[in-house]
Amino acid sequence: MLDRTGTPRGLPPGLPRDAALRERARRVIPGGLWGHMNAARLPEGYPQFFERAEGCRIWDADGNEYIDFMCGFGPMVLGYRDPEVEAAAAAQARLGDIFDGPSARLVELAELLTETVAHADWAMFQKNGTDATTACVTIARAATGRRKLLVARGSYHGAVPWCTPSLAGVTSEDRAHLIHYDYNDAASLRAAAAEAGGDLAGVIATAFRHDTRRDEEMATPEFARAAREVCDAAGAALILDDVRAGFRLDAGGSWEPLGVWPDLSAWSKAIANGHPLAAVTGADWLREAAAAVFVTGSFWCNAVPMAAALVTIRRLRDTDAIPHMAAMGERLRAGIAAQARAHGVWLRQSGPAQMPMILFDDDPEFAKGNLFVTEALARGVYLHPWHNMFLSAAHTPADIDRALEATDAALAAVARRFGEKGA
Ligand SMILES: *Cc1c(COP(=O)(O)O)cnc(C)c1O
Repeated sequence: MLDRTGTPRGLPPGLPRDAALRERARRVIPGGLWGHMNAARLPEGYPQFFERAEGCRIWDADGNEYIDFMCGFGPMVLGYRDPEVEAAAAAQARLGDIFDGPSARLVELAELLTETVAHADWAMFQKNGTDATTACVTIARAATGRRKLLVARGSYHGAVPWCTPSLAGVTSEDRAHLIHYDYNDAASLRAAAAEAGGDLAGVIATAFRHDTRRDEEMATPEFARAAREVCDAAGAALILDDVRAGFRLDAGGSWEPLGVWPDLSAWSKAIANGHPLAAVTGADWLREAAAAVFVTGSFWCNAVPMAAALVTIRRLRDTDAIPHMAAMGERLRAGIAAQARAHGVWLRQSGPAQMPMILFDDDPEFAKGNLFVTEALARGVYLHPWHNMFLSAAHTPADIDRALEATDAALAAVARRFGEKGA
C-alpha cells in the first residue's frame, strides 16, 4: 500500500517527511525532542511528527492514518476536534482568550468542578498536571506547617525537581523531604508515615498504579483506606494525583468507587479535551492555605481552555462517555485475549479497560511488545508497547473491530518470530 507521498506505507524508510523533520529538529532542539516524545523513547518505526487528527484517528507528517489508542497520551477523551468542544472554544476565542484578568468561565468552571467532584469544596486552575501536583504539595505544607511528603516508589507526578524521574540537574535538597512507600502496600505506607512522625504534611498517590513497563494495578480498598487513615491520624493532606485517570474512570473522582475522599486532587490531561488546562480541587480545611500560597502563571486564566473544559466535563458527567470508553476497552481486550490464545502468544492485559496496558510474558527488553505495536502500526493502528494506552468516547465498535484485524496480524507476527505455539 502506498501513502499519498507515494511511499510504501508504514515502516522506515517509509516516513520521509518525518525523517526530514527529525533531522531539522536535531539541529535546533536539544536531543531532537524532550521527555516522553523523544525519538529514542518511541518504538522502532514510529512517527514522531503529526499533522492532523479527527475523532479517534491521527495522521502522521507523511499522511499515514492511524486509529489512535494513545489519545495524545491522555488529553483527548471525547475525540480529536470534537465539534461541540471546538464550537465552545471558538465562541470564546471570538470574545477573547487572555485579558487583564479571568473571564466568567473561571467561576463557572470552579462551580462545575465543585458540583461534580465529590470531595471538592473549591477549585483553582493551572496549565499542566505538574503545576497541579506541585500546588497540591505546596498547599499541604502551607496548611500543616510540616515538610514530609509520602510518595509511592516509581509513581509519576510530573517533571520538576521534586518529582521528575531523571536526577539530572536535581539536588538532594529538592528531594529532601520525600519518603517512599510501595503502592497498594498499606504496611509500607504506615511505616513511611511513622518515619515522617510529627512532620507529615501529606500523602500523594496516583488514582491507580499506572507506572510504565509493568502491569497496572487498581488501588485496593485497603490501601486507599490506609492512606485516608494515615492522613487523618496525622492531620495531614491526602493528595490524589488524578492527572492521568481523572474523568476516565469516574466523573466524581477516581477513588469514588472506593468510597475514599482525598483532601486535594490534581487534574489535567482530559479535563478540556486537549486544550491546555489543569486544576486543583480541595476540601474546606485547606481553603485558607490555598489562598495563602502564591501560585500563578501567565496563561492560567486563559478563557478558551475553560470554555472547552465546561463542555468536556459536562459531557463526561452527564452522558455515557465513561461507560462507553470502558465498553470499547473491554471489546478490544476481549478480542486481543482471544487472538493471543489462538496464536499461542502469552500476554497480560491489566488496568481499567479504558486505560489498558498490554505486556508480553518473557519480554524483558520489550522485543515482543515492540514487534506487536510496529506490526499494528503498519496496519494503521497506533498502540504503545510499555505505557498505558487510552480509549476515548470517539472510539466506535467498528473502530475497535478494525483495530482487531490489525492486532490479529500483529500477534501472528509475534507468534512467527518468537515461535511460542506449543512452546
Ligand atoms: C502526566 C502526569 C502528570 C504531569 O502532568 P503534565 O501535564 O505532563 O505536567 C502528573 N501526574 C500524572 C499521574 C500524570 O500522568
